[in-house]
Amino acid sequence: MALTAAASAREILTRLHDVMAKRLPAQSKLNAVAEIIGTALDSEVCSIYLLREGLLELFATRGLDQQAVHVTKLALGEGLVGTIAENVETLNLDEAATHPDFAYRPETGEDRFHSFAGVPIIRRERSVGVLAVQHVEPRRYAEVEIEALQTVAMVLSELIANADLIDTAASAGTDRPQSTAATHAQGFKLVEGMAAGVAVYHQPRIVIEHTVAEDIEVERHRVYAAFDKMRDQIERMASQAEFGGGGEHDEVLATYKMFAYDEGWSRRINEAIDSGLTAEAAIERVQQRTRQRMREIDDPLLRDRMHDLEDLSNRLLRIVSGQLGTAAQLGLRQDSILIARNLGPAELLEYDRRRLKGVILEEGSLTAHVTIVARAMGVPVLGRVRTVRQLVAEGDMLLLDTSEESLFVRPSQAMLEAFEAKLALSQKRRAAFAQLKGEAPVTRDGHRVTVMVNAGLRDDLAALDLTGADGIGLFRTEFQFLVSATLPQREGQRRLYKDVLDAAGERPVVFRTVDIGGDKALPYLNHDADGEEENPAMGWRALRLALDRDGLMKAQARALIEAGAGRSLNIMFPMVSEPWEFDAARDLFEAQRAWLAARGRKMPSEIRYGAMLEVPALAEVLDLLLPKIDFLSIGTNDLTQFLFAADRAHPKLALRYDWLSPSILRFVKRVVDQAHAAGVPVAVCGEMGGRPLEAMALIGLGIDRLSITPAAVGPIKAMVRSLDREPLIAAMQGWLADPRGSLREVLAGWAGQHLVELA
Ligand code: PEP
Ligand code: MG
Repeated sequence: MALTAAASAREILTRLHDVMAKRLPAQSKLNAVAEIIGTALDSEVCSIYLLREGLLELFATRGLDQQAVHVTKLALGEGLVGTIAENVETLNLDEAATHPDFAYRPETGEDRFHSFAGVPIIRRERSVGVLAVQHVEPRRYAEVEIEALQTVAMVLSELIANADLIDTAASAGTDRPQSTAATHAQGFKLVEGMAAGVAVYHQPRIVIEHTVAEDIEVERHRVYAAFDKMRDQIERMASQAEFGGGGEHDEVLATYKMFAYDEGWSRRINEAIDSGLTAEAAIERVQQRTRQRMREIDDPLLRDRMHDLEDLSNRLLRIVSGQLGTAAQLGLRQDSILIARNLGPAELLEYDRRRLKGVILEEGSLTAHVTIVARAMGVPVLGRVRTVRQLVAEGDMLLLDTSEESLFVRPSQAMLEAFEAKLALSQKRRAAFAQLKGEAPVTRDGHRVTVMVNAGLRDDLAALDLTGADGIGLFRTEFQFLVSATLPQREGQRRLYKDVLDAAGERPVVFRTVDIGGDKALPYLNHDADGEEENPAMGWRALRLALDRDGLMKAQARALIEAGAGRSLNIMFPMVSEPWEFDAARDLFEAQRAWLAARGRKMPSEIRYGAMLEVPALAEVLDLLLPKIDFLSIGTNDLTQFLFAADRAHPKLALRYDWLSPSILRFVKRVVDQAHAAGVPVAVCGEMGGRPLEAMALIGLGIDRLSITPAAVGPIKAMVRSLDREPLIAAMQGWLADPRGSLREVLAGWAGQHLVELA
């Protein structure tokens, strides 16, 4: 091979470009391509194998026996060619026959050739063929030669896609993988449920349509401009991080920044442009090479970084190609399962609820707000599926069964049947839970438990009647702020609150004032330029922010008071850390009540004020707070993250601490006892209360009010109705006095013995 520099690759590309532009039958084009590459690389053999009907078929060759064309076929994984395609890897061998995967095909007459180099022809990260060269002389090919082959393979991928030469499945835009074999991945259940749909990536992959540059300077300019724009975007993301995810999110941003300014990366892209590729193809080409290198290094840390680079490379591709929208903006066209590394709650809410059937996250945790929103939407979520990008292509059929923590990719008929049978069963169970709608949640020994729902959007209101819940124990008012592109105005807020009260009728509704910040980002509400927050969950959020920016809270107070005209209004403040914050918030509301009353507006019949207990410090001064409040609600999502000092959105901590640990249970018990002694009703409104075993434990601690996600109402009612409360309370006292680690097993054992229904 005489190829030594980008200029030579460019020469090949220019000639390939000419061939591609001609009006020739596809087969003639492929023959010409084999000839051009063979001559340019001075190789005795140059062959092109393409995937057709699941087999790699020799489509064109220079140097092998022509009779073998369309006759020689290899399965994926068979022979050197099959191995390259299956593993999407390059082989570079000085003695082909000694490779364990070598399979001799007599019809090709290839026994004369010793050395062999082959590269996959890739489309959308999958092999659709193989380009191979062979020499009589045993020799190893130089890096620059292999790179030239890989560049040419990219161009070939464009040619064969345009000429419709590959498997229809591979070329039809359905993005089928080279292997249609069913496969399976495990994750971590974030939201219970089953779903079937096609795979949709939140950030769609860009398909490169043109690989050969018309004008190299133009391409270079396009890449420069895209880099500038990408760096801007990242700087902006970093400056907004105070409203962003926090924790891992910050690490990711730091890595993004590092890559965005990495000289090596931009230089390699430039070199690829020098070799004659378009900006898009050059970015992808460099990414393919990095992917390949990473595959050879088995280091989980590096693999994580690879994820970041993939994200960034995709971002650069989107900018350069002008294909900017997320899948939500492009619209879901059929029942879909969404795949993302992670999502914000607002991003999830952008999707069409009718078509969004499930979500797969590479990260994710149980109490991150995106999970809470998905739970409220009834969309099953499987988290921490690290391999999803390797296993799933856009458009793949997927089955999600989060109770098994399983994802089935391109399911076989047998998988499909098993899934459908299970789905029918679970629908039956759901129907049985729905039957409980009219039944009261009373324990076997006659204790009435109040079971309310958590809500946040207008669509959630239907859940009240569907579940027969006792009311709304937590209305997260910030959700309307999250779904809106601009700050919701007072009148819009008032209308929503009034609709909520109308839908609830006689049933109580507890409105929680805006709880923004932490992992609930509001893009339109800029922080002052007072620096990034290191720990947004423990930062300037919720009531802290609302008291400082009191314009927001005043508008909300007026909207709530006006909406509650003539009725009883329950207001709850989030993240109260010290009693004075409660006082300040209540005073603000009272001032708005006076202001509206002075203007003759109709007032609520009463306003009851409550506090959330989410910050452990408040428990130490509960005696000071209790006389001031009408009710207390324990937010176990935040409370447990602060008790254990473990970020609720951090995927690595998602399983580390148990809600049924003695520390949490003892803490809750102390609070419950103290509140009850003071005659203040106390509820639990965190996700913990929606899980039957955890809810049972809470009842054992004396909790008799739960506010939970609507889907959990049926299972929780069933649990309550099968439970003897008094013996549980007695047993709980004993366990908490002398705990041996988490009480999960003990509680499950007790439930089993006492025939408590745990769905
Ligand atoms: C909680 O923290 O438990 C809670 C109910 O509030 P949120 O999940 O909205 O922070
Ligand atoms: Mg909270």
